[in-house]
Amino acid sequence: MSEPKPVVASSDPLARAWWAGVAEGRIGYQRCEACAAAQFYPRERCAACGSARLAIATSVGTGTIFSITVVHRPPSPALQAFAPYGIALVDLDEGVRLMAHADPGLAIGDRVRATFALFGDRTTPKFVRAG
Ligand SMILES: [Zn+2]
Repeated sequence: MSEPKPVVASSDPLARAWWAGVAEGRIGYQRCEACAAAQFYPRERCAACGSARLAIATSVGTGTIFSITVVHRPPSPALQAFAPYGIALVDLDEGVRLMAHADPGLAIGDRVRATFALFGDRTTPKFVRAG
C-alpha cells in the first residue's frame, strides 16, 4: 500500500471531522458530558439522554472483534487489489462499536489494535491482532 492521504467527501460536518481525525491516525468517538455515555458514530445529540453536550474523545485503538466477514469481490474494480480483506465490527475498549477494515485472518473474540491504511482513495482504520 502507498502512503495514507486524507480524502473527506461527506456533506456531514461530524463525519468530515471524524474522517479528518482518521487521516491523522485517530479514531474519535463522543462522550456525553451530561450522562457520560460513549457513542459512535458521531451525532448531534446523545443517544442515551438527548443532551447536545457531547465531547470528542480519542480511542486508544484497542478492542475485540465482535464479528468479521471477508470480502473477496469488492464493490468496484479499483478495490480489487485489496481483496481479500476483512470487514469487522470492533468493540473498542471505550465501549463503542464501529465497522472497520481488519486482517482477514481474525476471528470473533480476537483482541485487536488499530492501524491506518490507504483503501482506494481514503485512509481507513484497519485492525490487526494485538500483541
Ligand atoms: Zn447523555
